Amino acid sequence: MNRNVIAGLTCNSLKVHEIFYSLQGEGGRQGEASIFIRLAGCNLRCDFCDTDFEDGTEMTLEAIHTIVRQFPCQWIVWTGGEPTLQLTDDRLWFFKNNGYKQAVESNGTQKLSPVFDYTVVSPKGNVEYAKQINPQVDEVRLPLKKGDTLPAIDSLPKAKKYFVSPIFTDHPQETKENINYCVKQVLSRPQWKLSVQIHKLIGIE
Ligand code: SF4
Repeated sequence: MNRNVIAGLTCNSLKVHEIFYSLQGEGGRQGEASIFIRLAGCNLRCDFCDTDFEDGTEMTLEAIHTIVRQFPCQWIVWTGGEPTLQLTDDRLWFFKNNGYKQAVESNGTQKLSPVFDYTVVSPKGNVEYAKQINPQVDEVRLPLKKGDTLPAIDSLPKAKKYFVSPIFTDHPQETKENINYCVKQVLSRPQWKLSVQIHKLIGIE
């Protein structure tokens, strides 16, 4: 799915896969209550992707707000898919003007709006391009499996924190090997931190 698939949206709506309230499971905001809005569509097809983002329902911004204001939390995390395919500044300002702080989790292929309050880039594919279009972000988070090469920090967007996130698979032994591999990477390159997806460990969404 790419920009063309969402081209039919009105400027007052978004194609939403799911909205849920949970804890941020990884990275620099780990453990913080957050309202997750997963938008439909992605411009990449990563072979390790475990996210269901294809289907979505077109919702007006007001309809989304009606749902999110039921939760006692002022942080929205936009995720996907690739949420920036739909998140124009006008749409972001709607939620900012309603008092929300907004974090985004992006694959690094799109320029990020300055309206976001917290930016996470997980560059997939062209790392240099990710740095070129977003030289400064809050957090770089790289999903890693055993044997993957960790890029040089200098090749990535400048960030306050750099995380490696072991990829969880359906095979516990494989997952354990990925975790062990990431631990070794951090021990040998301590500019990185380990981020384990706690929502998977404690069985929450
Ligand atoms: S960029 Fe993210 S959501 Fe899109 S295919 Fe890759 S892992 Fe899945």
